[in-house]
Amino acid sequence: MTAKQAIEFFEPSPRLLMGPGPSGAHPSVLAAMGMPIIGHLDPDFLRLMDECRTMIRGVFQTNNQFTLATPGTGTSGMEAAVMNMLEPGDHAIIGTCGYFGGRIVEMAERTGAKVTRVDAEWGTAIEPETIRDVAKQNQPVKLIAIVHAETSTGVQQPIEPISEIAKEFEALLLIDCVTSLGGIPVKADEWEADILYSGTQKCLSAPPGASPITLSEKAVQALSERKTLPNTWYLDLQKLEAYWDNRRAYHHTSPISMLYALHRALAITLAEGLENRWERHERNGKALQNGLEALGLELLAKEAVRLPVLTTVRIPESIDGDLLKSELLTNFSTEIAGGLGNLKGKIWRVGLMGESSTPDNVLFFLSAFGLLLRKHGFKADVTAALDSAAKTLNV
Ligand SMILES: *Cc1c(COP(=O)(O)O)cnc(C)c1O
Repeated sequence: MTAKQAIEFFEPSPRLLMGPGPSGAHPSVLAAMGMPIIGHLDPDFLRLMDECRTMIRGVFQTNNQFTLATPGTGTSGMEAAVMNMLEPGDHAIIGTCGYFGGRIVEMAERTGAKVTRVDAEWGTAIEPETIRDVAKQNQPVKLIAIVHAETSTGVQQPIEPISEIAKEFEALLLIDCVTSLGGIPVKADEWEADILYSGTQKCLSAPPGASPITLSEKAVQALSERKTLPNTWYLDLQKLEAYWDNRRAYHHTSPISMLYALHRALAITLAEGLENRWERHERNGKALQNGLEALGLELLAKEAVRLPVLTTVRIPESIDGDLLKSELLTNFSTEIAGGLGNLKGKIWRVGLMGESSTPDNVLFFLSAFGLLLRKHGFKADVTAALDSAAKTLNV
């Protein structure tokens, strides 16, 4: 391409985002990103950071002083959590019943800590007793890590029993809340959890690019007692806190526009009310799941631990899953995803997160997906699916 050739500006096609993230951002969140850039130490910007801290505490339901947003997507929060809490000589137990639990294991192994993974079949939750057994044989335990909402399998992990075990063995409790925060109840203080992180583009409905994270006093104490420096400079939590608290020590140039977006998304979340928001996700998720079963499809996640914000659907034998997914995109501008890891080619993943979680989207999706299934010879009962979803939605 020569300098003289006109370069077309990039513009994406409009999409309905019903995959495992990103979810559709709220228009006012996108508009907030267009506000003028100010300096990362401008008094106005410091006020915005303080307000973000307060609102992040609000959505995590915590009073933790040590609360901030790492620059980078959800994985940056994960990496900050793991790299800062573990060092050589520590023992960590990590519950793994999906792709993201596996990612925590990979990171933890890079810290030089001894890592024991506790597995469960994909589609089920971790059995707390298996964690207790491993903990008994490996004392002292520095950290127990678990994924609250496993986006690869559509499973919601019950936290209370794991929290009991963490207390029993005086271990730090780390919880991945990337897909749960703002969609299903997250109660950091009630759970006595020590390190929780999330992302912006799942149930908070902002663009990807920041990771809210919060540490209990016990976790902060553990940080200060490290014998070695964490294996990360950019995501060194003590350095980040020195910028976020009133020391305001320069560490990196804050992604200004991203924090405008985060601030707006948190404000929208809290204005809706956490309880209302959880209830909305619960109802729409249930309606979609009832509708999918009425279409004649089978869901992967066991009903007792099924997430409302991300539904995993088994691809029927006779259907080409990738073809259907791409037809949904080309014909209906709607994005869903396929399976990760062990579940590649076996499932579809349908998200109803944040702005994307609406009754309209549920009914539209069941119609469109049902029609495509029928086109490929699968006898989907679209009327039954709509009736079933409508009943759950009370319309
Ligand atoms: C999406 C996701 C992540 C990773 O977040 P990115 O924003 O993609 O970096 C981590 N954990 C879970 C459970 C997720 O769903």
